Amino acid sequence: EKAELQKLVDEPSESMDGITVELAANIGTPDDLEGVKSNGAEGIGLYRTEFLYMGRNELPTEDEQYEAYKKVLKDMEGKPVVVRTLDVGGDKELPYLDLPKEMNPFLGHRAVRMTLDNPELFRTQLRALLRASQHGNLKIMFPMIATIDEFNRAKALLIEEKDKLVDEGEKIKEDIEVGIMVEIPSAAVIADQFAKVVDFFSIGTNDLIQYTMAADRMNESVSYLYQPHHPALLRLIKMVIDAAHKEGKWAGMCGEMAGDEQAVPLLLGLGLDEFSMSASSVLKARKQISQLKKTDMERLAAAAIECKDSEEVLALVEEYTDRI
Ligand code: PEP
Ligand code: MG
Repeated sequence: EKAELQKLVDEPSESMDGITVELAANIGTPDDLEGVKSNGAEGIGLYRTEFLYMGRNELPTEDEQYEAYKKVLKDMEGKPVVVRTLDVGGDKELPYLDLPKEMNPFLGHRAVRMTLDNPELFRTQLRALLRASQHGNLKIMFPMIATIDEFNRAKALLIEEKDKLVDEGEKIKEDIEVGIMVEIPSAAVIADQFAKVVDFFSIGTNDLIQYTMAADRMNESVSYLYQPHHPALLRLIKMVIDAAHKEGKWAGMCGEMAGDEQAVPLLLGLGLDEFSMSASSVLKARKQISQLKKTDMERLAAAAIECKDSEEVLALVEEYTDRI
């Protein structure tokens, strides 16, 4: 079985009826690149930059960050690399920043909310990314965006730093795509408006599920509500993908759900363009997609969003995929 999967390393990710999608990997450090290669991922759909900031006593410098981003971009040889700007707060703390304790950290001052309020920290990361951009196919993504104003403010900082670097004579890639993670329901609900200003979406289901169901992703006693296949979530995902396509943009997913065997048929049917998952899941997903017809999965997805609960959805998934 393993040898059989290994044959798919250099193959495209294509459905039985010839529709191609991108299967990408999530990484946390440049050390993860080996697994990305050996598992045939076509890009990096989520580079979580938190690790650069963790396990140390002070902020990483611009140059330290530049070196890390450059290594990943060079190693990927022109394949897409989506780098997420710092997402701390919530469950991820940085002791040296002395951030105040919060009553509800997951609803608190995390991710882009924190970096917008610490512009020097944010600008340093953006400069490192911009400088690294000339070494590959960089795309920049902001986490935990709730409003269009947050996106505009983050993008404005990026453009200011870009203009400064250009004035300083630095070479910057021209057409860097700038997108958002959709992990807060508000962003999914107004995805049609976001789609006019962003270059892409990446759906972060790990958080989107917890915020949609109001169920802490770390709390065992409410884990029964953590339901990736629930029609409420599928409808939000559909809104995001449809909104992206209407504006000629692409929509990906970088939450755990993207590599979930029971979710892949639904996501293919909903029209997801890019699936980003742990590298070790890529070949299995490639094989699964090669055995599915997109047109059938579109009918599955249409039926699934009319279901009342996850059990109904999962029964449908089984019915549609058992026919193979
Ligand atoms: C997500 O929320 O789905 C996601 C990919 O981000 P993280 O798991 O790092 O919060
Ligand atoms: Mg998240």
